[in-house]
Amino acid sequence: MNYCGGKIGGGGSDQRGNGGGGPCGACKFLRRKCIKGCIFAPYFDSDQGTVHFAAVHKVFGASNASKLLMRIPAHKRLDAVVTLCYEALARARDPVYGCVAHIFALQQQGVLQFNYLSFTNQVLMRNFGNNG
Ligand SMILES: [Zn+2]
Repeated sequence: MNYCGGKIGGGGSDQRGNGGGGPCGACKFLRRKCIKGCIFAPYFDSDQGTVHFAAVHKVFGASNASKLLMRIPAHKRLDAVVTLCYEALARARDPVYGCVAHIFALQQQGVLQFNYLSFTNQVLMRNFGNNG
């Protein structure tokens, strides 16, 4: 899934990824000049990236997001940006639970599937267990 605009999947480069055009999505949102080596440029394009960065900025703050990315090795930043966007967009949709709502739902599904598996095993044992 693509949570951060066109840059996701393009590989993490430390150069400006916008082909020398306008500012990246983050700088466009922040109305600032996008400098060479902008930490956000490889991950937020000037189109969809602006929308996703707006969510990241609202939940985490641009400065915190920037500091967080600086602390992470460059080859892992793409994954970090994807999860930041996912968490921020989930928080925008559900201010109370954020992405935890999704985790709870998946946990519930896991419990249901485990119970169904146990039931299926019991039925199999009852019907075929003594014929071996
Ligand atoms: Zn930028």
